Amino acid sequence: MPIHEEHLIRPENLSTHDDLIIDGIDVSGHWSTFIESRVVTDYNEAIEEEISNLPGGEFIHRCWQCGSCTNSCTVNAVNPEFNPRYWIYLIRMGMESELLRDKDIIWQCVSCNKCTYACPRDVFPEGVMKATAHWLELKGHTPKSPSTIFDEIFTGQVVETGKIEEGRILRSFFKRTGQSLMQDWVITMVQRMIARLPVKMLFALGWGGVFKPRTSQWARARSAINEYIVEKEEDHRQALGLDDLVDLAKQELSPGETRPAD
Ligand code: SF4
Ligand code: SF4
Repeated sequence: MPIHEEHLIRPENLSTHDDLIIDGIDVSGHWSTFIESRVVTDYNEAIEEEISNLPGGEFIHRCWQCGSCTNSCTVNAVNPEFNPRYWIYLIRMGMESELLRDKDIIWQCVSCNKCTYACPRDVFPEGVMKATAHWLELKGHTPKSPSTIFDEIFTGQVVETGKIEEGRILRSFFKRTGQSLMQDWVITMVQRMIARLPVKMLFALGWGGVFKPRTSQWARARSAINEYIVEKEEDHRQALGLDDLVDLAKQELSPGETRPAD
């Protein structure tokens, strides 16, 4: 019997025999296609609570699985495997092993927030995607994603200087992700900036890249923000039962200490 909607079955759950005869009938090839039964036994009932303890994941319990988030999702439009509704389902059901199968694409959310506007239950799916990617990193299931690295560089610079200097952020991001700065699109962007931006603005951009300007009297604000960040990071790790990492975080950065920017 043909399998309808075969694309909905993971390829590893399908098996065929090139050479199989049953009761004298040749059922080789696709005639002998079997679907492996799908049995999930390793439920992790803590996942939903852990993710809801991370920023953005607070309202995951409201989801009623309408699918509006996936339907409106920018990334899903180009990659149907990117499915926020499905991942929220897996998290709420505690199906950790199923969730981990998609661990390498969950971070690809581009934070466009179309899902957030489409969601009738104010789940804040964009936040859930971020919290899930963060959870995967904290649990050691994935290395730091490019998205996390960008967030760290951006935040580090704002905390250190109270300003945003795009050129330095871009350079640091490329360096930390092992990418060359001399990429075609960067060269084109710089050429267009030189051709179109006023000289005064170009000078300000160059100046900012070299001399790292700071907001005046920023030190006290920086100290307070760093204290807050350390406190929150400890909360998140404790919420996930990662006590060893709490100690590590304390060693990495004491309250009041300056968080280095790249
Ligand atoms: S914020 Fe992320 S999950 Fe939501 S629509 Fe955009 S890409 Fe999709
Ligand atoms: S749109 Fe909201 S309620 Fe609907 S599936 Fe997505 S998160 Fe759940």
